[in-house]
Amino acid sequence: MQVTKTVEETRKQIKAWKKEGKTIGLVPTMGFLHEGHASLIKKCREQNDIVVVSDFVNPTQFGPTEDLEAYPRDFERDSKLCESLGTDLIFCPEPSEMYHDPHAFVSIDTLSETLCGKTRPIHFKGVCTVVTKLFHIVAPDRAYFGQKDAQQLAIIRKMVQDLNFDIEIVGCPIVREEDGLAKSSRNTYLSDEERKAALCLSRSVKLGQEIIHAGISAEELLGKMRAVIEAEPLAKIDYVSMVDALTMQPVEKADHNVLVAMAVYIGKTRLIDNFSYEV
Ligand code: AMP
Repeated sequence: MQVTKTVEETRKQIKAWKKEGKTIGLVPTMGFLHEGHASLIKKCREQNDIVVVSDFVNPTQFGPTEDLEAYPRDFERDSKLCESLGTDLIFCPEPSEMYHDPHAFVSIDTLSETLCGKTRPIHFKGVCTVVTKLFHIVAPDRAYFGQKDAQQLAIIRKMVQDLNFDIEIVGCPIVREEDGLAKSSRNTYLSDEERKAALCLSRSVKLGQEIIHAGISAEELLGKMRAVIEAEPLAKIDYVSMVDALTMQPVEKADHNVLVAMAVYIGKTRLIDNFSYEV
C-alpha cells in the first residue's frame, strides 16, 4: 500500500494505473476510521481494480466554533485498517497542500440550506469543494459515500450530475453498533452516560421506520419521533425533519420518496441519523 501526501505524487501514480487500463475507486474520509468507513472500502474493493482512500480532516467544512481541532485523528490505526482491507493508496495531504489563500469554492446552494445546512451554513460548501478537488486529483471511475450523511450524499449526486463529473456515485447503507447507534468518529466524544443517552436517535429512527406509511403527515410522524428524543434528558434536538429525497426541501406528507433525518445534541456532541422511505 502506498501513502502519498502531495497532489503531484498522487496524480503520477494514478496516471500510471490508468495507463495500465485499471479502474479506480475513491473513498473520501476524514480518518479515525471505523466499520462504517470499512464498509465503503470493502464495496470499493469489490468493484474496482484500484482502491484509493483519502484521509483528510477538511478544515473548510468546519464552522469557526466547531470541533476542527478536537476532531479525533489516528493515522497509524487508519493505515493498518486500510492495508488489511486491500487499499492500494492512501492520500493524506496537509491542509496547506489542499488550500491556498484565497481559493475557489464549489457549492450547491438549494440542497445545502435545509437540515444540517441550517445549523452548519458553510459545511456543504466545504464538502463540495474538497470532494471536487479529490475528484480532480484522483479522477476515479467510482466514489463511495455513506447514507449516514444522507444530505451530503444527495448534494454530491446533484453536484456530479450538474457539473458533469464522469464518476459513478455509490451510496452505502448506515453501519450501526450492536445496540443501534450509528457508527461515527464523533462517538468517541461521548461519556458513558452520554453514550447510553445517544441511543434515543436510533430508537427514534426505528420508531419512524415502523410507523411511516404512504400518505402519513410529517406532523404526525415527526411528533412521535421527537417525543422519543425529548424523553431523554441529555438530548437536545437540532432538527427532526422529513424532506423530499432529491431536493432536500421539507414535505408535508410521505407521498413520494422522502428522507427522514435528524441532528441531536447529546451534551456538546452533535449526532445525526436518518432513514429513507420510498413510495
Ligand atoms: P467521515 O470520515 O465522517 O467524513 O465519513 C467518510 C464517509 O464514511 C462518508 O461518506 C460517510 O457517510 C461514511 N460513513 C461514516 N459513518 C458511516 C456509517 N456509520 N455507516 C456508513 N457510512 C458511514
